[in-house]
Amino acid sequence: MEKIDEEGKLAIRAKLKRLNTLSLGIGAPGLLLQGMGASRSSLLFFLGSIVGTAMLIVGLAYYAQYRGRHWAFGFLGLASCLGTIILYFIGKKCLHCHASHGFRASTCTNCGAPLAS
Ligand SMILES: [Zn+2]
Repeated sequence: MEKIDEEGKLAIRAKLKRLNTLSLGIGAPGLLLQGMGASRSSLLFFLGSIVGTAMLIVGLAYYAQYRGRHWAFGFLGLASCLGTIILYFIGKKCLHCHASHGFRASTCTNCGAPLAS
């Protein structure tokens, strides 16, 4: 695999930023709603927790793509915080060449592309 050029790096960075923003913007309020729903027993909060879980799944689907994984990993949102932690520790893949990396890697050793933080 040839090294990525500067233009390619910028494109990957922009993509990472967009996926991260979407992931946090949808997933974080989802996690909050889900948590609130679990702490109270009324129909409204129950519905809130269902909506929250759905939002968390969508947020994690973006987070999975951010880390170079398939969007279907978003269903780990059904396991709430635990799912988020699992998704973090299974490591990431390069968005450019799809090489696998540990969860601490910041740059692809194969092509030099930036990785999710
Ligand atoms: Zn790479």
